[in-house]
Amino acid sequence: MSCYFCGKPRQSWTGYYCDCCSEISRITKLYGEEEVLDILRTTCIRNKKQIKNKIEIVKKEQEEAEAPPLTRSKKKEKCLKEV
Ligand SMILES: [Zn+2]
Repeated sequence: MSCYFCGKPRQSWTGYYCDCCSEISRITKLYGEEEVLDILRTTCIRNKKQIKNKIEIVKKEQEEAEAPPLTRSKKKEKCLKEV
């Protein structure tokens, strides 16, 4: 039997999807189909190089958001390193 979504072999006789499509299904249930569709449209409808660049930009944004705020002395150090 094949996956209802992609056509590859199903993960089990009782499931409708393969492993990957089962995960996609779970993510879609978690975030909602509109959110997932928006992400797919804004990130995946590009060539591979563009997708890689987009992923790097998002990772960098996440790292900056998670990093502790820079003190004035650290900002100064960072400026000096860039020059
Ligand atoms: Zn599948």
